Formats: sequence, structure tokens, C-alpha cells
Amino acid sequence: MSEYVKSLMTEVKAKNPSQPEFHQAVEEVVESLESVLDKHPEYRAAKILERIIEPERVIMFRVPWVNDQGEVQVNRGFRIEMNSAIGPYKGGLRFHPSVNLGILKFLAFEQVFKNSLTTLPMGGGKGGSDFDPKGKSDAEVMRFCQSFMSELFRHIGPNTDVPAGDIGVGGREIGFLFGQYKKLRNEFSGILTGKGLNWGGSLIRPEATGYGAVYFAAEMLATRNDSLEGKTCLVSGSGNVAQYTVEKLLDLGAKVTTLSDSSGYIYDEEGIDREKLAFVMELKNVRRGRIKEYAEKYLNAVYTPVDASSDHNSLWDHKADCAFPSATQNEINEKDAQNLLNNGVFVISEGANMPTTLEGVNLFLDKGILYGPAKAANAGGVAVSGLEMAQNSMRYGWTREEVDNRLQLIMKSIHTTCVTTAEKYGTPGNYVNGANIGGFIKVADSMLDQGIV
Ligand code: NDP
Repeated sequence: MSEYVKSLMTEVKAKNPSQPEFHQAVEEVVESLESVLDKHPEYRAAKILERIIEPERVIMFRVPWVNDQGEVQVNRGFRIEMNSAIGPYKGGLRFHPSVNLGILKFLAFEQVFKNSLTTLPMGGGKGGSDFDPKGKSDAEVMRFCQSFMSELFRHIGPNTDVPAGDIGVGGREIGFLFGQYKKLRNEFSGILTGKGLNWGGSLIRPEATGYGAVYFAAEMLATRNDSLEGKTCLVSGSGNVAQYTVEKLLDLGAKVTTLSDSSGYIYDEEGIDREKLAFVMELKNVRRGRIKEYAEKYLNAVYTPVDASSDHNSLWDHKADCAFPSATQNEINEKDAQNLLNNGVFVISEGANMPTTLEGVNLFLDKGILYGPAKAANAGGVAVSGLEMAQNSMRYGWTREEVDNRLQLIMKSIHTTCVTTAEKYGTPGNYVNGANIGGFIKVADSMLDQGIV
């Protein structure tokens, strides 16, 4: 670590105490950007990096609601409006008990670079609440969403800030949030993405993050004249991103052997075929059950519960070629990374945000495997959100093929940006540097153009 990175990180840690995920995200980016700052003293003079690290605005609010037993509940709501240099703030809402300011700041920070890479005009933001939708009735989720939007509506708008879904926020939640916004504003406008098809949503938006992560892996493999056909893949999570990652992997002839949730994971040596995937989708999206039930239905599969005392996650300790972490941050630590390498994994495409610790990332980079970091690999979701905004502005909807083609073109373009930028800055094959630098330059130049604001 250079003196510059060291002193910047000391300042970031002092100013943002108890936000380890935010420190981690900043450190990874700052390390990548050193060579850019050396080449462009104007960025340093205008304190571009110091300004990008500081959110333009943080909104924190009380979300009171009443449960089915008539008891008053109080949660905390957040919206981080991180950077609007290249477009309205854009990024998802996460409802999960682990949500806090530091986690949302890391996600909003990552989003700035990711959105820039998509080539679409979107700034970066993120929000959410420590509300846990698990085990809540639909009526409770609706009352919570209505209370959350009763404050958030003041801060968002189609040209200001356009949230979307993330962990714990899917079609059901977006519907309740949209309904409340429309009632409060008396206005039907595209203030959220991930909407239902009947009321302004885009085809392929639910599939986009998972499909995009697979398209990105295919692009990386193509650089070595290889493809996903016949590859064995480990996938974590079993939510939106994981489900559509599996679907696209099956389309491209790969075999998937794992899925997980926060209670444990299943290993199915025979592979998760389309029928089994349909079971998972019904289990998770309709019945809202646990992945353990997969092993109760398909007896050849083995279920392993989470072992909180273990220093690694055995999901990552199976023979495979590719891994698609699609659950949550820091789900691959250094030991997991070593296990993946020992098991022959040479392609990693991150569907989740920051799923690998810094030590794990360094191990992948040292080994020179095809490692696609989240900012690049999972940008398909926000890219199709951008396409949903474009369709809303036109009051017109594209076909499935049209949106899917655009998604593929965008993932190709992100891949090219990563490869050419990594090469230009002297680290060929390093997708982390490629993504961080490629995303940064467009935002930095826009900030220079717009003065000290
Ligand atoms: P979902 O809520 O649909 O699914 C999340 C999955 O991850 C569930 O299986 C969940 O299990 C599991 N999970 C969540 N938290 C933890 C945890 N702390 N430990 C272990 N497992 C956990 O969310 P998404 O699929 O939308 O999001 C998954 C990841 O992808 C996140 O990192 C998100 O930020 C990222 N992402 C999502 C995008 C999108 O378009 N949806 C876009 C870009 C990135 P359980 O049900 O038990 O909680």
C-alpha cells in the first residue's frame, strides 16, 4: 500500500467509524486508481476521489408500522444519494436485518462505478431498511412498504433518484412502494424500476442480473477460446440473481451443482435441471420456503446447514470450473478462495455485490484466473433498469428479444472496457483494475466539467 492510499484510508476510517464494508469497498477502488491519479494530476487537484467517497446526501428516517397482532414496530429507513455527476441517482433498496449505514454506503459507492460502466446516464445511490420481510404476511409487508414510501417519496423522482430492488425487495415490494408513491403524488411516473409488466416494467428486468453475470463469464471465457458448454458451476444464493444465473447457465449447456440460502446449501451432483429450477422458483418466490426443502424433494441432493463456528463455507469446496457467488457480501473469504482454486475453479463471475474479501480477491488476481468483479459482472441488472427508464420516458415497451440483445451488447461493452482499460494501465487481465478505472474516468471527467459542487 502506498503512502497516498494509507493516508487516504486512515482519513476514511476516522471519518466513517464502524463501517468496515465501506472501508473495504473504498480501499479496493483507491488501490486501483493510484496509477490514474499519477497520470492525471488534475483529478488530484480537484480532489475528485475525496469527493466521490463522500455521499452527496444521506437520508435516514423512522419507519413505523403495525404488525398483524396490532403491535407497533419501528424500523430505520435509509437512502444514500452518492453521486449524480452522470445522471439521476440509481440503485436498489435492500430490506434485510443486517442493513446499516456502512453497508448501504459501500453498495452506493460501488454503484457509482458500476452505473458508469453500463454506458447509460445513471448516477449512483442505494437504500433500504433493517426490516426483515422473512416470515411476515403480505399485509405486514404492504404496511411496511407504505410507511417507508411515506418518507422516501419526498426525495425521489424520475429525474432525481430512481430506486430498484435488491435483497428482500422483489416484485411484491416494488408494487406496494409504487402504489404508495402514486397515491401520495397523484402521479404515474417511472420512479422505481423492476415494476410489473402491466404498469411500466421492462421485459427481462427480473432475469437481467443473473443473465448478465453469465454473459460476462462467457465473454471472459471467449478470451481463452473457451465457452460455458459442459462446465460445472457453483452458484450461491437462491433468490433473484441465483435463479436466473442457473437458468442462463442451463441455456448455455453448463451444469449447476449448488444453491444456498442464509440457513445452508444444497449440493446436487447430478445437476440442477429445469424441473428442479422450477421447483426452486416456486419454493422461493411463491411459498417463500427454505432451500433445505430441495434435499427433501430430491433425495440425491445433500443439504448442509450453515456452521457459524466454521472458518469457511463448504459450498465453495466442491470440484467445479466456475463459481457465481449470488447471495451477499463477503461470502468468499481467503480460505474459500483457496478452496475454489484447489478444486479447479478458474472462472468467477460475481452476481452478488462484493462477495469476495480483499484477501480472496488478491488470491484470484495472483493466480491469474478469469475473475469478473461485481461492478462489472452484475451490472446487467442496473443496465436493464436503465432500459426500463428509457422505455418509460418513451411510453413504449420493447420486446424480450430487443431488451435481451441490448443487455448482451452492454455486457460485451463492459467486458471490452475492462480488458482495454486494464491493458492501458499496465495490468492486462486484471478485471478489477479495468472496472474500477473504466468506471471512474467518466464520472471524474464529468465532475471536472461541472465545477466544485
Ligand atoms: P434476493 O433477496 O432475491 O436473494 C438473496 C439470496 O441470498 C437469498 O437466497 C438469501 O437467503 C441469500 N442471503 C441473503 N443474505 C444472506 C446472508 N447474510 N448470508 C447468506 N445468504 C444470504 O436478492 P438478490 O438475488 O436480488 O440479491 C443477491 C445479491 O445480488 C446481493 O448481493 C445483491 O446486492 C446483488 N445484486 C442484485 C441485483 C438485482 O437486480 N436484484 C443487481 C446487482 C446485484 P435468505 O432467503 O435465507 O435470506
